[in-house]
This record gives sequence, C-alpha cells and structure tokens, in this order.
Amino acid sequence: MNESYARRALRDVCRMLYDRGLTVSAGGNMSVKVGDSEILITPSGRNKGLLEPEDMVLLGMDGSVLSEGRPSIEHRFHLALYNLNPDTGAVVHCHPLHCTTLAVRGEGMRCNLTPEGVLLLGEVPMIGYYTPGSQELVDAVSAHHGARAMLMERHGALTQGRSLEEAYNRMEELEFQARLQLLAGDVSDLPADEIKRLSEM
Ligand SMILES: [Zn+2]
Repeated sequence: MNESYARRALRDVCRMLYDRGLTVSAGGNMSVKVGDSEILITPSGRNKGLLEPEDMVLLGMDGSVLSEGRPSIEHRFHLALYNLNPDTGAVVHCHPLHCTTLAVRGEGMRCNLTPEGVLLLGEVPMIGYYTPGSQELVDAVSAHHGARAMLMERHGALTQGRSLEEAYNRMEELEFQARLQLLAGDVSDLPADEIKRLSEM
C-alpha cells in the first residue's frame, strides 16, 4: 500500500469509527502498515472525526518519527504488534462504550453467543490495567499478540487485522458483541459442538 493511499484509508477508518460512536473526542489511536518498514499512525490528542490524510504520522518500525506531527502516545504497542505478527497490517485501539463497560466491570468478553462472535473474534482476552503509554501496557499487549481482539481493563479495546478493513470489522463486531452480552443478560453460549464446528471453518 503506498503512503498517500494509506493516509486516505486511515482517515476513512477514523471517520467510520467516529461516526459510529466507536470512539469519542480524542480517544483511541489507529495505524496501518506502509511497506515492510514503516507505519502511519494517528497523531496525539486530536479528534478522530476531524483528521485529514496529512495529519497521520509516519513512523519507522523502531519508533523513529519520519514525518511532521507528534504520534499517538500509544504508538509503542502498535509497533510491538507489527513486530511480533508479520501478517498484521492494521491496528485499531479505541474506547467503545459497551466494551469499556465490560472493561471497567472487569467482566470478560463472551464471544460464543452468536456465530459471528466465534467466526470474527475467537477468544478475547482481557489484559490488566496499566497507565496509558507505559512499558507495562506494551508488555501486556505483547503477551497476547496472537489475539485478534482484546479488552483492556478500565480502559477500552484493541483489534488487529491483515488490513484496515479487517481490524475495523473486528472492532465493530467486538462492540456489537459487548452490547449484545450486556442486553442479553443470563443466557447460555452456543452448544459446544457448534462452537467447535465454527472455530474450524
Ligand atoms: Zn486508550
């Protein structure tokens, strides 16, 4: 993906996240891989609904800043996921209301309520609370680098995918499943043999 296309694609995903209420105000940060050795990431402290392609910040895989702008404070866990997962092409972190409700309750995500939960998300770990921007948070994310999606205790949610669209879809589905879980109350999962069948698809 060339840089100018990636800048526009990242702007589009930020607007979709903002317009659907998956992120509010300046919360969250999103990134996309450009070639093998660089990523574009959202700038620090900006409203995600107002970003333009030229606002995105280009980083080397070692965290060096290669363009104008100040990168998100969370850029290190983005870089950790790209460095640990060669197939990862995009990372989305934000604070959707229902995901964050589960995360402040310390209530684990149930992704076996519907087929889409099983198919799109799989197991969703909850990582502990660590100060935003800290090395401890980077280490906690890295420890679950194989997960397609994770909740972050008292904080929010994180997804990754091979493309921006896949990472976005996983965040949209994660928030849907969190809302479903909160609305559905005391219900059972899909039968175990069906979860197994879906997991193998
Ligand atoms: Zn955050």
